[in-house]
Amino acid sequence: MESSSIIRKTAVDLRVAPNLIDYEGERASFSWPVVGRELAGLPGGGINIAWEAVGRHARGALRDKVAYRFLARGTPAYSVTYERLAELAGRFCSVLRQLHVGKGERVFILAGRIPELYVAVLGSLQHGAVVSPLFSAFGPEPIATRVNLGEGSVLVTTDALYERKVAKWRDRMPTLKHVLLVADDGGTTAVPGTLDLATLMAQTPSACEVAPTSAEDMALLHFTSGTTGTPKGAVHVHGAVATHWATGRYALDLHTDDIYWCTADPGWVTGTSYGIVAPLLHGVTSVVDREEFDAERWYGILQDEKVSVWYTAPTAVRMLMKAGSDIVKKYTLSGLRFVASVGEPLNPEAVWWGKEVLGLPIHDNWWQTETGGIMIANTPAFDIKPGSMGRPLPGIEAAIVQRQEDGSIKVVKTPGKEGELALKRGWPSMFRGYLNNEERYRKSFAGEWYLTGDLAQRDADGYYWFVGRADDVIKSAGHLIGPFEVESALMEHPAVAEAGVIGKPDPVVGEVVKAFVSLKMGFEESEALRMELLGHARKRLGAAVAPKEIAFLPSLPRTRSGKIMRRLLKARELGLPEGDTSTLEGGA
Ligand code: ATP
Ligand code: MG
Repeated sequence: MESSSIIRKTAVDLRVAPNLIDYEGERASFSWPVVGRELAGLPGGGINIAWEAVGRHARGALRDKVAYRFLARGTPAYSVTYERLAELAGRFCSVLRQLHVGKGERVFILAGRIPELYVAVLGSLQHGAVVSPLFSAFGPEPIATRVNLGEGSVLVTTDALYERKVAKWRDRMPTLKHVLLVADDGGTTAVPGTLDLATLMAQTPSACEVAPTSAEDMALLHFTSGTTGTPKGAVHVHGAVATHWATGRYALDLHTDDIYWCTADPGWVTGTSYGIVAPLLHGVTSVVDREEFDAERWYGILQDEKVSVWYTAPTAVRMLMKAGSDIVKKYTLSGLRFVASVGEPLNPEAVWWGKEVLGLPIHDNWWQTETGGIMIANTPAFDIKPGSMGRPLPGIEAAIVQRQEDGSIKVVKTPGKEGELALKRGWPSMFRGYLNNEERYRKSFAGEWYLTGDLAQRDADGYYWFVGRADDVIKSAGHLIGPFEVESALMEHPAVAEAGVIGKPDPVVGEVVKAFVSLKMGFEESEALRMELLGHARKRLGAAVAPKEIAFLPSLPRTRSGKIMRRLLKARELGLPEGDTSTLEGGA
């Protein structure tokens, strides 16, 4: 936290005037009703995300502007204008209407990052249905569990995914009334028990009156990443769009002429809030890549698409770091002006890597499925303290709190003290429930505060520092040790690509710190390296906090949204059941 490690912004970083310059002033004058005036609203006074995101643009100055550039290997890029996107969303809306899908009924989408996914999300919202995108890599069971929990009426998927993952399980999803199929080869499908989406779309009008949804009407159902246990279904409403507008402006610094790339899949909340809603609200052109991570490909996209604002995740940054910095030298990334990351703690090492290799530091920001949008961020104008998540955005009040035995909480005023990160209720995109789990929802609040389950501290300048998830914090010989600190120290070693740290039960000290590391290209595991890493950590962290054990793994277990699953490292270490692995990358 010392000042020498601050990254001060230079003219290069600020060559486009940031939307947020006067942090304190903007926070003081901010109000959600004022943000509401930036939105169009519906004639009857309601609000609908699809109308804000595309409908209104398609009739305005942005009509002919490209909303999406869809990229896929082996095919030319496919561009869709705002007008065309609105037309397609309208057709999808009409399809639902013709099928008599009711307002508030649930539409699940199981597809890769294909145009139809984006159309179905927007069309469902326009219709007033509730939409829930699922990772296309989910296996049959996680799909069925989610569809059943959400009482899905409609499933939109591709013929190949249907055959592989749904057909045999169809009778286990009794609420499903319609399955709409997209042909993988771009043609039409004829699969018993399903309808062909392209045929239906061609037969329906593109005009579809926007449902008169209100701010409190349910719009999206998002499942959490399952990092700490069984994924929870978080309910989101149409009024959330105000947060997406504000955070797109402040945290992602979107300007209308930006080319923007959000690498997250819509199967988790970042991919919809910031892969669909926020960029469309701001009228930017978004790049969507259908393929999985590939360092060369990603640098190529940044270069060829002239991406200016890039929103990615620590796991991707670590993979780029792992691939080495020679690759990047082949590419010109001169269009890039702002890089942000979310999903996991961003190790200081990764922030510096951005500065050195991309020429731009990476801006960490923090939020959760439950918060619906970015809450704490490093915005372009902020100086960065690598390792810090940044400061609460205008409209967001955060605090460090301690739970008391009687269920109340105490706000910790002293800077530098650890506690649970809490947010004051009242921001529009706050979740409105955990599906079928009212009890758990209620327990997430104490009075006017929402308790996030993450431990953090705030420094004297108002920057927040992530310590760890409450579940992951290690108690060793009277010390509370956050895994993030230990992982970041290990990452500073040139051989380490990734680190995951757990507490291993110990009769004497309670828990001992054990680290799992994967190595960068060009390094091989050996006893000597293990000793060297133990020594490096001890020097950096002191004996009380440094890991006592280090094990090498080719890669760490991760969720499909890219988060290290420490609970799985722990279960495997202790020979315990692995619990819910539905979101495990590479899993069923
Ligand atoms: P589950 O709740 O099912 O265990 P999850 O918490 O990983 O899964 P998400 O809502 O996708 O599900 O992730 C939010 C969590 O991710 C946060 O609570 C936090 O622990 C972590 N996180 C997100 N961004 C950051 C960040 N910038 N720094 C540190 N942690 C982050
Ligand atoms: Mg969570």
